[in-house]
Amino acid sequence: MVKAIVGANWGDEGKGKITDMLAQEADYIVRFQGGANAGHTIVNNYGKFALHTLPSGVFYNHTTSVIGNGVALNIPVLFNEIKSITDKGVPMPRIAVSDRCQIVMPYHILFDQYEEERLGKASFGSTKSGIAPFYSDKYAKVGYQVSELFDDDILRDKVVRTCEQKNVLLEHLYHKPLLNPEELLATLHEYRDMIAPYVCDVSTMLWNAIKEGKNILLEGQLGTLKDPDHGIYPMVTSSSTLAAYGAIGAGLPPYEIKQIVTVCKAYSSAVGAGAFVSEIFGDEADELRRRGGDGGEFGATTGRPRRMGWFDCVASKYGCRMQGTTDVAFTVLDVLGYLDEIPVCVGYEIDGEVTTDFPVTSKLEKAKPVLKTLPGWKTDIRGIKNYEELPENCRNYIEFIEEQIGFPITMVSNGPGRDDIIYRKSAI
Ligand code: GDP
Repeated sequence: MVKAIVGANWGDEGKGKITDMLAQEADYIVRFQGGANAGHTIVNNYGKFALHTLPSGVFYNHTTSVIGNGVALNIPVLFNEIKSITDKGVPMPRIAVSDRCQIVMPYHILFDQYEEERLGKASFGSTKSGIAPFYSDKYAKVGYQVSELFDDDILRDKVVRTCEQKNVLLEHLYHKPLLNPEELLATLHEYRDMIAPYVCDVSTMLWNAIKEGKNILLEGQLGTLKDPDHGIYPMVTSSSTLAAYGAIGAGLPPYEIKQIVTVCKAYSSAVGAGAFVSEIFGDEADELRRRGGDGGEFGATTGRPRRMGWFDCVASKYGCRMQGTTDVAFTVLDVLGYLDEIPVCVGYEIDGEVTTDFPVTSKLEKAKPVLKTLPGWKTDIRGIKNYEELPENCRNYIEFIEEQIGFPITMVSNGPGRDDIIYRKSAI
């Protein structure tokens, strides 16, 4: 059985926690897209960890952690991450890296920095992890597949061609130091030796696992609104964030994905530039940022303060629909316990008309939020295990949002820990 865990919003919805929780019953946990640009924060018995490349299942010894072909693989980052967890006493995890995975090259990271510098004010707010240049090269067919590391003839030839091409840009567009083919080749040899123990044919491994009745979790990064096709283009990421892409980025038959758990946060936060209709500012935002998540809403990779906003029903309804949601996991609800009243964005006003359909970017830029205010519950709901024990106003908030988005909220997360979860039978 294959399950996907994906985000409904702009990322940082708490997917890491939900994955960690559902991982208890998973044999394989697979990353299928993205790279080391975003991170999951996980709190468990070993401590608090920010993972950027490793799937959340690395903390269990019954799971294999898989890096699928769709991932932008940064080999040194993967290594440091393995070291950072084993240093804290976590047993060495079983890791499988697809031989079809492509590699983030050192120059991808440089190009990401140089391009953001060149764009200045018009920059994308990239995390400068090399993800956009990586995917550009992948689709321009000049990327490096892990399998190629093991064929030195291909590699030597390719490195020379790469340097010729990249050096034109480095010299004339960016005015930066040039690449040296010998150095690049030496780096790739190091990468080969680092990754060799983990490389395998992931899609065959997963195919066999399905036939043996094993449980596979696909772990998404970011959320629907960062999808390059269906998100807020161009302020998106460079690989698809949708559950459907899990089939491609892991090499699975699409019909095997039976459950799609879409993680939706009880308020909004976003990083990077781009329209954010329900955004709030000033003291109101500072307070939510400070109280949010587990220790504040700051980027797991960059430490950047996140932009904050009220829950956005329009974006979340769309976010859930595009994921093909079977279950919504509604997270970080405990954080809202300090508010007397909680505004929720229930519509967008665009050129004088109100809509609940999420528009294309040019229209989104013009959208103004239509807010409805719900009463707060003014209590700490952490520790509650049964849905009926939640304060009435809290249940009303959940049920109102469920009705607005039109997908069943079957899990409510009321704390960062693995056990801070309330299962619920939805009426829809
Ligand atoms: P991800 O990328 O979607 O996994 O999101 P993050 O790693 O940014 O997770 C959001 C933050 O919220 C992390 O610090 C989690 O530990 C924390 N978190 C997750 N669920 C809850 C919850 O229900 N309540 C609280 N207070 N924090 C949570």
